[in-house]
Amino acid sequence: MRSVSEHRHVVAELIAPRPAVTVALTEAAGLVLAADVIAEMSLPVFDNSAMDGYAVIAADVAAATPDNPVKLPVAEDIPAGRSDALTLRPGTAHRIMTGAPLPVGATAVVPVEATAGGSHWAGDISAGTDTVSITTAAKPGQHIRRAGEDVTAGTKVLRTGQVVTPAALGLAAALGLRELSVIPRQRVLVVSTGSELVAPGTPLQPGQIYESNAIMLAAAVRDAGAAVLAAPMAGDDVAQFTAVLDRYAEQADLIITTGGVSAGAYEVVKDALGRTGDQTVEFVKVAMQPGMPQGAGRWAGTPIVTLPGNPVSALVSFEVFVRPALRAAMGLPDPDRPRRGAVLTEGLTSPHGKRQFRRGVLDPAAGTVTSYGPPASHHLRWLASANCLLEIGEDVTDIDTGSTVRVWDLSS
Ligand code: AMP
Ligand code: MG
Repeated sequence: MRSVSEHRHVVAELIAPRPAVTVALTEAAGLVLAADVIAEMSLPVFDNSAMDGYAVIAADVAAATPDNPVKLPVAEDIPAGRSDALTLRPGTAHRIMTGAPLPVGATAVVPVEATAGGSHWAGDISAGTDTVSITTAAKPGQHIRRAGEDVTAGTKVLRTGQVVTPAALGLAAALGLRELSVIPRQRVLVVSTGSELVAPGTPLQPGQIYESNAIMLAAAVRDAGAAVLAAPMAGDDVAQFTAVLDRYAEQADLIITTGGVSAGAYEVVKDALGRTGDQTVEFVKVAMQPGMPQGAGRWAGTPIVTLPGNPVSALVSFEVFVRPALRAAMGLPDPDRPRRGAVLTEGLTSPHGKRQFRRGVLDPAAGTVTSYGPPASHHLRWLASANCLLEIGEDVTDIDTGSTVRVWDLSS
């Protein structure tokens, strides 16, 4: 039997990063930068006001106090976006809004709150446009945002390998960029197999069940940061199954199948991929529970990972083998789920020689974990409300209450 870490390695080797592409900012969120971003301009672009108030010459209002305010004529009104060049003459003030260009000659901004009447503009746009009584002295430079104090043109502001976060996108847009060079998402085809499967919403005939793996794994693919090319169903029919693969394989970076890989008859995935001339899909038993039957290889050159059909096995296998490999191929800095130790609230058993992944409920504050539901591979209900996987080593068969176990935090 192949070990979990060996099969993780096999799957990781299979999935290759796509070449960098240039995408619109709106497409770049969550992807990894493939090139440094050098600012071609400075931020702020021009000296501007940090407050709604009055641009003044600080020396003109040096004596201002609440009892002896300095009264100045207001010569101009400067909203954000005003573009004509203005000069502030000594002994005058300009009313100015946050982000508006500072007039030449101004050395400070007095906030509206430091003028007689306080924030008296509310609801009256012409208030304080004739004269202003300044009640507090201004320090030279106060409430002025200087050009280039945030970013100086020529500075490297984002690095290759950095994830494009909302803030990184905001910075790129502020610098006037429309596109970024990124490592694109892996495009994944998810194919579920089984002649018993019907799509939810259709009445069930005897012997049929609702298909759940494709919708579940497609969501898991997107949650991993990758893209879903399609998530079709195929019956246990080799021709039908291979037709689905052929239809999409060329556009896919990875194919994931579920079902049809165990030891029974009618194992469509094994039958179809075992018959290809080049025999590049290897079917193996991996020493884990759930998820023992696994396969990996290529279909028409495209990487393919064949997961078992039981829904819990399928999703746990995706977590253990596929998710980290997909994320690594997209250059994401944290391909694995965060792992931590947690104290077991009740004793457990685990099969000897297999790495067991139980569903668990982690209480991060208390640092405890409780195994949730039976270890069997078809109990989807428990997985649906679990927030972690408990990883129990191959050599461990009994674990006592109060022992520390390793958990994979699925919540982040
Ligand atoms: P298989 O590996 O194809 O023998 O499937 C193992 C078990 O998982 C069987 O009970 C299947 O009915 C079930 N199963 C397989 N694929 C799916 C699916 N896409 N949705 C729900 N159950 C499935
Ligand atoms: Mg099946």
